[in-house]
Amino acid sequence: MNFNLSNILRENIKKLTPYSSARSEFKGEAEIFLDANENNFSKRYNRYPDPLQFGLKEEIGRIKNLKKENIFLGNGSDEAIDLLFRIFCNPGKDNVIICPPTYGMYEVCANINDVEAIKIPLIAENFDLNVDEILRNVDENTKMIFICNPNNPTGNLIDEEKILKILNSFNKIVVIDEAYIDFAGQPSYIEKLKNYPNLVILQTFSKAYGLAGLRIGMAFASEEIIQVFNKIKPPYNINSASQEIALKVLQNKDGLDNLIKKTLSEKERLIEEVSKLDFLVKIYPSYGNFLFIKVKNADELHSHLSTKKIVVRNRNAMSLCHGCLRITVGNEEENDILLKELREF
Ligand SMILES: *Cc1c(COP(=O)(O)O)cnc(C)c1O
Repeated sequence: MNFNLSNILRENIKKLTPYSSARSEFKGEAEIFLDANENNFSKRYNRYPDPLQFGLKEEIGRIKNLKKENIFLGNGSDEAIDLLFRIFCNPGKDNVIICPPTYGMYEVCANINDVEAIKIPLIAENFDLNVDEILRNVDENTKMIFICNPNNPTGNLIDEEKILKILNSFNKIVVIDEAYIDFAGQPSYIEKLKNYPNLVILQTFSKAYGLAGLRIGMAFASEEIIQVFNKIKPPYNINSASQEIALKVLQNKDGLDNLIKKTLSEKERLIEEVSKLDFLVKIYPSYGNFLFIKVKNADELHSHLSTKKIVVRNRNAMSLCHGCLRITVGNEEENDILLKELREF
């Protein structure tokens, strides 16, 4: 496959002179910092954060077996998604392929950037990719294909052969969003990065790591692609407090494992109990931290739960998701209350 990064970057991005921050210009050992107009009378968070998040990336690299140069950190993966559009897609001209029902931000970011999102629906029976149709719809202006694995909201894994076929056949950018990979018991596609210069993988601190409020998302890709991310990102996109807390959480492996273990065991309990409900039509196999279920009367159930102050995601109106709700696995107490209200419905 002939992949040429320089050929698919936007011209203005290729030519861009990036913002040069005070801290990134100084190389060497300094003690007195009078270069960034900070307030040196204040102590705790008076300094601008590390623009390239050195410490946090080192720890992520250790855990994921990657070099820092292959890691970009964004203000949530949502920032990485938006930057991908701005790196590769000419507004009003280029397009991307998305496969609904899937994560909503791909289309929203496309719209914000005035990029057409060509929709190739997942296969109705198993929510897997319709690879032939995807490849048939690729044209010269198609810059990216988005694959969500495991998929949100349907919870399923995408067949590996299908993903490889796309990676092998499409010589622009293939984005694999692995927001739920830590719940899936499956290897990440990180291992494939060395074989595929067109691959960008997204992961996040928001789900398994339990840090949605800190807003940290990760993109893994070739050094060349990560360099372009770094060139166009806002200089201080991850604040100091987030960098510090995320690093501490990552260093506590037992704590992280425990969060995932608890979620998975509560998920099993929910599956077992929800299976007994007589209005249930189907529980789809889910590899995330949520259940995706089809019920006889989704809207009524959704509003019943709302009156009981329980919010779940109603996907009834989404194409291919008729009658479906997405329910996040809560903690023990929350799940007890949810199950009680489901039984009473
Ligand atoms: C939750 C989620 C994200 C996470 O986004 P953040 O901005 O990192 O919080 C990304 N992709 C998918 C598919 C998700 O479900």
